[in-house]
Amino acid sequence: MAADRVRVRIAPSPTGDPHVGTAYVALFNYAFAKHHGGDFVLRIEDTDRARSSRASEEAILRSLRWLGLRWDEGPDVGGPCGPYRQSERAAIYREHAELLLERGHAYRCFCSAERLERLRERQRAAKTPPGYDGQCRELSADEVAVQLAAGAAHTVRLKMPRTGEAVFDDQLRGTIRMPFAHSDDQVLLKSDGLPTYHLANVVDDHLMAISHVVRAEEWIPSVPKHLRLYEAFGWQPPRMVHLPLLRNNDKNKSKISKRRNPVSLDYYREAGILPQAMLNFLALMGWSFGGDQEKFTLEQMIERFDLAPGSVGLGGPVFDLEKLSWLNGLYLRDLSDEQLVDQLIAWRLNRDYFLRLAPLVRERIRRFDEFVPLTEFFFSGDLELGAVGQQLVPKKRSARDTAAVVDALTDELDGVRDWLPEALEPVLRACCERLQWTSREVFMIVRIAVSGRAASPPLFDTMVAVGRDLCRRRLRQAALWLRAQPHTEPAVAAAPGPKG
Ligand code: GLU
Repeated sequence: MAADRVRVRIAPSPTGDPHVGTAYVALFNYAFAKHHGGDFVLRIEDTDRARSSRASEEAILRSLRWLGLRWDEGPDVGGPCGPYRQSERAAIYREHAELLLERGHAYRCFCSAERLERLRERQRAAKTPPGYDGQCRELSADEVAVQLAAGAAHTVRLKMPRTGEAVFDDQLRGTIRMPFAHSDDQVLLKSDGLPTYHLANVVDDHLMAISHVVRAEEWIPSVPKHLRLYEAFGWQPPRMVHLPLLRNNDKNKSKISKRRNPVSLDYYREAGILPQAMLNFLALMGWSFGGDQEKFTLEQMIERFDLAPGSVGLGGPVFDLEKLSWLNGLYLRDLSDEQLVDQLIAWRLNRDYFLRLAPLVRERIRRFDEFVPLTEFFFSGDLELGAVGQQLVPKKRSARDTAAVVDALTDELDGVRDWLPEALEPVLRACCERLQWTSREVFMIVRIAVSGRAASPPLFDTMVAVGRDLCRRRLRQAALWLRAQPHTEPAVAAAPGPKG
């Protein structure tokens, strides 16, 4: 591979829904690589075994393909630097950790989880920064040998400098200096022999010949550890580029979060956002095409896109749904009538979808002209809660408590991937149990939030037909709506009611 070849990567962790932030970083990496005739690599960082899943990985790949971003190397297409899934590279990381141990840049740490917890507590109480105190850093070779002979569980930690500072040039941000003292001795290999993010990420970026690391700004604090690792291995670090984080459209411009904005790409696909419009919208997050041109194609972006200083605004681009809808409207207007109708049919106005609705409504309509009014909420986006919203708050409960319950339910539902009645019912019933709210209360809240009505077809079937992403969006909207209500205490505090 030519040393000056531009090679970039995205390295998503498959721990949840395919996130708009991943698409944003992917787009900027892709446009940069293609502008320079380079390579765009997709690597799956699934070192967190407990939280990673194949289903999430597949969802990420599927949504990036939907957007039209194609990677040159990745777990599905292979390539010269594979495997591209970190769980398949464990031996590589172990070898590299051994190398650091041999060279004295890393050490084995035998501290128990209990000791580390006590240490954290002491630090919390003393209000000192958290971090490992380096107890095992000075163990003699003999002491280590004794522990190893006894088969003691241990991790491998990186020796960080105690003084001095990490200095690096971020291509967008200029020189960044960070005292090494702020970074503790990072665990590189966990006691199960698997790597942490830091070791795997640096080893892979090097072995995959990545020339530029282009990622979100939340990773800046990791850079001192990474630079130390590059130095310890004797490798040249890649160029660093930290993109701004996407922000909610609220007054504090908080970091984009699912409580305020749908963050799953699946939501946008289901809502009828066209992939070209989504890419165009993401391109506008901190970057501008030039002049006041807001609508442009991916090819046009590639032609102009670079990551020179000043090319991407760092002020925190706002992910504004209204603007996305506006832009999508421009793309819809480019479709012919025929194309528009085809797209609508492919979306929901098709036989398969009607067949899913038929069993839900057949007992409830008497004439065909009652079908559309009855099923309207299956085809709409956000619902106007208006008058029915008042019924969201059960008797003897407050709007504020109800909002907290809705958040708790939605957090729980976020973890449900198989969106089926048999999966939803136990989850909601377990929530009732845990929250000590009756199923009657909770089911009514969910019904109103999801359908905008106090009477709907059977709840779980309705939720399934509405779809996973739209249900969660409507629940989040209901929580926001409840929080916007004037706060009044319930007349009588409710005792934990009988569970229905
Ligand atoms: N696995 C990290 C993530 O989930 C990758 C960060 C990086 O690009 O270095 O975003």
